Order: sequence, then structure tokens, then C-alpha cells
Amino acid sequence: MNKIRGLDKGSGALVCDSGCVLEELNNYVSDYGLMMPLDLAAKGSCQISGIVSTNAGGIRFLKYGSLHGNILGLEIVSLNSTGYDIKQLFIGTDGTLGIVTGVSILTVRKLEDISVVVLGFNSFDNVRKTALSSKEQLAEILSVPDLKKRLSEAGIYDDAKSGQINPNKVNLIAGYGHIGDGNIHLSVMSEKMQHKLTNLLEPYIFEWIYNVGGSVSAEHGLGLNRRDCLHYSKSQEFIAMMRKVKSVFDPKGIMNPCKFIPLG
Ligand SMILES: Cc1cc2nc3c(=O)[nH]c(=O)nc-3n(C[C@H](O)[C@H](O)[C@H](O)COP(=O)(O)OP(=O)(O)OC[C@H]3O[C@@H](n4cnc5c(N)ncnc54)[C@H](O)[C@@H]3O)c2cc1C
Repeated sequence: MNKIRGLDKGSGALVCDSGCVLEELNNYVSDYGLMMPLDLAAKGSCQISGIVSTNAGGIRFLKYGSLHGNILGLEIVSLNSTGYDIKQLFIGTDGTLGIVTGVSILTVRKLEDISVVVLGFNSFDNVRKTALSSKEQLAEILSVPDLKKRLSEAGIYDDAKSGQINPNKVNLIAGYGHIGDGNIHLSVMSEKMQHKLTNLLEPYIFEWIYNVGGSVSAEHGLGLNRRDCLHYSKSQEFIAMMRKVKSVFDPKGIMNPCKFIPLG
């Protein structure tokens, strides 16, 4: 399941098995002056099917857009995706609707030069403005939602001492993300896993996201851990519709059972 089936050098259309690793695909098309339309830190291990199933974005998103525009076709077990544009439904569904066995993806011209620019901004608004006015560049952002109050309540953060973090509880708090597909990673690091800390932060963060109309999960999919948080991003009516769609494609409920859709 890791064979390259063909490359149309003119159009850049690449057809491959679902198990092909992103970096290997990129190396292959590079010999023909092409590159994959997405790149991410997991490129050495992530497979094209995993990328499709999580709707990965990566650092070329701003320039080349999402997989919804780059995937030309999907081969799915017992389903031919010709006809209705059903492939779009499979992108980002964590394999809950079916198993992808082959992928056709549009590669792009390899860049002659790559310049890395690090920019500092004093507000997120400026990040957005710059991203909009320089669509050809990529901006990785550094941003942390206002967690200080919550953390100080837990004795982790002391605003009075000029924002000191209690090193016995937490080593580092960092927020970073991708302006292209608008997601943010929040890392709160401590010496060891602390369930108390997780329990303090997680409902608070999801409620905060709900209040600003955001989504609880992005490039890493919903999987099992975030499954029961879906209601923060989607209405009960929408979740009911997802259940109906799943039952059409997977009437026996055997495709990645228990993932993605909250148990009803
Ligand atoms: C270090 C690191 C950096 C990352 N950076 C980014 C980033 O910058 N941008 C971004 O968008 N994402 C990023 N990610 C997340 C990344 O998109 C996913 O982890 C990756 O694409 C998943 O690919 P995988 O092959 O590892 O899939 P897996 O983790 O093995 O699977 C992911 C999901 O796909 C399903 N699946 C796998 N194969 C199939 C198949 N054949 N048919 C149907 N379903 C299937 C699995 O069941 C699972 O639900 C990063 C991840 C890591 C670890």
C-alpha cells in the first residue's frame, strides 16, 4: 500500500497508494520540478491517507490552500468516488466513513528559492492584516489566549510577581499556530502529567472557544480524546446529521467505531 502509481508531469497530478509517506512523495515529485502542496513537521512519518483523514494543513496552506482544493480523487474501499463529489466528505473525517486505499493529489511547481522571514507583531490584528496583505508568504503566529486568571487561581501563575510561572507546577506555557488555517496549539508543560491541571484547563478552554465561535479541534482531528467535546463546536442538530451520514456509509458502525461522533 505504498506504491506510487503515476505522475502526470504536465498537470502535476500524482496518484499513489494510501500508505505513501509525505516526505517520500515529495522527494519523488521533486525530481520532476514539483512538490507536494503541503508540508508539516510529521512529514517523515505521516501517510497520505492520514493527511486526508485529518485534513492536515501545514506550512504551505496560505499559498496553496486546503486539501479540499488539492485532492483530485480518492479510492475508498467498496466505493467509487466518481459522480457526487463524495471525496470531499471523506476529507477530515478520521476514517469514520470508510478506508482510503488510493489518493490522487495535485502537486505544484517546486519553488526555486525559499526565504524564511521572522516577523514580530504587537497584536493579533496586525498578524491578520499582514497575512492578508502578503498571501504569498506564510506567517506562523505566536499567541496565547487569556489563561492567566485561570492559571493564577490554580497557583500556577503569579501576576503580582510580574507574571511569574510557578516552576514547581508548570515549566512553560506557549501558544503557537497557523494563520493559514486559523488554528492554535496551546502547550502547558510540566514535569509530569497532571490530571488536576488538565481538568482545570480543558473545560475552561473549550468554553472560551465556544464563546468566540471557534472549533475545538483542527489538524489533529477529533479522534477519541476530543470526540465528546464536539458539542462545543457543533449543534445537536448537526451532530444528529453526522450520525445519519455515517449510517449511510457505514451501516454496521465498523469504520473507526467510537471515534469522532459522540456516542448517542
Ligand atoms: C510533529 C507533528 C507536526 C504536525 N504538524 C502539523 C501541521 O503543521 N499542520 C497540520 O495540519 N497537521 C500537523 N500535524 C498533524 C498531522 O496532520 C497528522 O498527525 C497526520 O497528518 C496524520 O497522519 P498519519 O499518517 O500519522 O495518520 P494517523 O495518525 O495514523 O491517522 C490519523 C487518522 O486517519 C485515519 N486513517 C489513517 N489511514 C487511513 C485510511 N487509509 N483510511 C481512512 N482513515 C485513515 C486514522 O484512523 C486516524 O483517525 C502534525 C503532527 C505531528 C506529529
